[in-house]
Amino acid sequence: MTKNIVIVGGGFAGTAVAGALEKALAKSNDQEYRIILVEKKSHFYHAIAGLRSAVLDWDSRILIPYTDLFHNKRNKVVQASVVQLEKGEILLDQSIEEFGDRVAYDYLVLATGTHYPSPAKASALTYEATHANLESLRASVKSAKSIVIVGGGPVGIELAGEIRDVYAEKKITIVHAKDNFLDEASSPNVKLRRSLLTLAQKNQIDTIFNDSVDLPSDLKNHFYSPEDGIVKTNKGQMIENVDLVLLAFGNRPETAWLKNSSLGTEILNANGYIKVKKTFQVDHADLSNVFVLGDAADLSETKLAYRIGAHAPVVVENLVQIAVKKGKPTAEYKKGPDAMFITFGKKQGAGVLPFFGGLTQELGYAAR
Ligand SMILES: Cc1cc2nc3c(=O)[nH]c(=O)nc-3n(C[C@H](O)[C@H](O)[C@H](O)COP(=O)(O)OP(=O)(O)OC[C@H]3O[C@@H](n4cnc5c(N)ncnc54)[C@H](O)[C@@H]3O)c2cc1C
Repeated sequence: MTKNIVIVGGGFAGTAVAGALEKALAKSNDQEYRIILVEKKSHFYHAIAGLRSAVLDWDSRILIPYTDLFHNKRNKVVQASVVQLEKGEILLDQSIEEFGDRVAYDYLVLATGTHYPSPAKASALTYEATHANLESLRASVKSAKSIVIVGGGPVGIELAGEIRDVYAEKKITIVHAKDNFLDEASSPNVKLRRSLLTLAQKNQIDTIFNDSVDLPSDLKNHFYSPEDGIVKTNKGQMIENVDLVLLAFGNRPETAWLKNSSLGTEILNANGYIKVKKTFQVDHADLSNVFVLGDAADLSETKLAYRIGAHAPVVVENLVQIAVKKGKPTAEYKKGPDAMFITFGKKQGAGVLPFFGGLTQELGYAAR
């Protein structure tokens, strides 16, 4: 009987494992396993390019269907949300042909990543709904004369850059709770934070630091037009004549569904990330056949897609070792060098590159 290796989540991590595992199983002449990737969305959303979609309709390029993910027809993509983890099976939010409302697994890979407000990530499940949301956002950005961006982390800065690249005249204000861009705890590089401030000033981006926006309690969307055009901050400042407020904060692990079973709850740390060993097996005595990688894994490193290039080979090697060769996991993860580059539109940006212990690099500064 065919056995299942199930991957939950078809972001950068899930698709990297799916592609590499399909090749590795073929190389081992394996006939025992098929791969099933369960993803709630009909299309992969390219988060790295997502912010530009606030000003540019390239939706058909950044929303990629899963139809060509696998070459071997025995492997499948199932569109459903996984709502519960049990030993040997996962439960779905709906009944799917061939499987019903659950999928049995012999091996499981958790790759559910993180949630982020649109357009950084998408929450709608279909191409049409995501495109409609982005169209509505683009229209709001286009018509707004004054925009407030809440959050001065990498996403807030990059979003400001994308808007400034297309609209030279709009007033853009970033409100950020820290004393400068980013967060000293997670980005201690003082030079980088200073470079970003210079970049913002050269591009006429206003900043309000050490304060936060008093958001409406009934906020349903990832952007809104404030009543009477007034945005109040928690320290009592009033920003007037604001047409649009965009949210650029709130990255949180997509793991709440694991709380629907005691087994799932046991593998979460206090912040909702999944406890992981160096082999990428979930850190739980009863779950040596369950792996986790990507943004959802509890690893003390920046949550960036380039790291997945080093996660996925370890997961695949260990899966082949255990599942196909019936051995013990052999590969262990070693965190690679830290790198971060924050773009500001198409031609500018600043970052820390992994040379000479962390070189701060500024790009662009083209006269506008
Ligand atoms: C605006 C922005 C810019 C970025 N720029 C860069 C960059 O320049 N370089 C870089 O290296 N990194 C960048 N990153 C980070 C990068 O996007 C993440 O590290 C990467 O997306 C993590 O991949 P992942 O597969 O772990 O998670 P995700 O990309 O979050 O994918 C998780 C997938 O799981 C699915 N899923 C979640 N829950 C369930 C469920 N219960 N059932 C079924 N499916 C589920 C989701 O729909 C999603 O498709 C950026 C991130 C953002 C937001």
